[in-house]
Amino acid sequence: MPHLITGTTQLLGVIGDPVRHSLSPAMHNAAIAALGRDFVYVPLPVAAGDLVRALAGFEASALVGFNATIPHKQDLLPLVRATAAGRQVGAINTVWREETGWAGTNTDVDGFVAPLRSRARNWSDVTPVVLGNGGAARAVVVGCDRLGCRELVVVGRTLEKVAQFQNSWHESGLDLSLRTATWEDLPELLPATELLVNTTPIGMAPNAEATPIPAELLANLQPGAIAYDLIYTPRPTQFLQLSQQQGAVAIDGLEMLVCQGAAALELWLQQPVPVDVMRQAAAERLR
Ligand code: NAP
Repeated sequence: MPHLITGTTQLLGVIGDPVRHSLSPAMHNAAIAALGRDFVYVPLPVAAGDLVRALAGFEASALVGFNATIPHKQDLLPLVRATAAGRQVGAINTVWREETGWAGTNTDVDGFVAPLRSRARNWSDVTPVVLGNGGAARAVVVGCDRLGCRELVVVGRTLEKVAQFQNSWHESGLDLSLRTATWEDLPELLPATELLVNTTPIGMAPNAEATPIPAELLANLQPGAIAYDLIYTPRPTQFLQLSQQQGAVAIDGLEMLVCQGAAALELWLQQPVPVDVMRQAAAERLR
């Protein structure tokens, strides 16, 4: 039964360009309905050059808060009071009102960490290996720092970009020490890690047959290691299927997506939210 929108209904949404394929409206509205709260979450298309104008409009309206996706996540950073996580990632995906203006954070970090917390490890002894050094890898680094990992290896294909990535963490307040490596180093890195994370788009539909690491190399993974793919189309990816065949525990990107959404909704509603309802709504929307 769709939520009845009345004069008292409070507004949430997601800004981006495009936003039409976003799973967020389905996932948030399902949770809002399950909680019986008088909110609605809508897609708000905002073009790249229109962010400042859109924020001013939101300020003048009753919008309670919003998520941000491409192309606004980095541009929001100087426009809101950013949390430490937002500043470390260098991007804001969740914004809410405060007395003095907008505040924002990056709940991709919470989303990444949530499925790992339920898989107990002695995180201070785990050295995660992260494939890729783009935007999502930043949330992964902050998440691993939050888990308590003391060291992490980022694997990049472009020496210059991976060096830039490493330099960008100076004075970021990270406790973990970040090393960089290239794809050629994987045969030595894989047997030593309990957490392997794919943040590259390799294996994403329509290239669902691709894998960032071939089966023969994945054979170097420890049994029981966690293989985590940020991709959620297809489910599971080739990378996760091959890792599972080697005895790894698989976590797919839908879990991160759902848990980042749950963390955002908790901020706006100021109460625990039903993650299982959000997961089901997102999975149904994907199908
Ligand atoms: P991005 O900023 O473009 O970064 C992609 C990274 O992958 C770059 O470091 C790039 O290397 C590397 N890469 C791309 N193609 C490669 C290849 N063929 N071989 C080796 N490395 C390659 O993208 P992003 O925003 O980080 O997103 C990455 C993935 O995460 C996407 O699939 C996205 O859908 C997913 N994601 C999922 C969630 C979730 O909630 N589940 C959240 C955010 C992102 P170079 O730097 O050398 O170009």
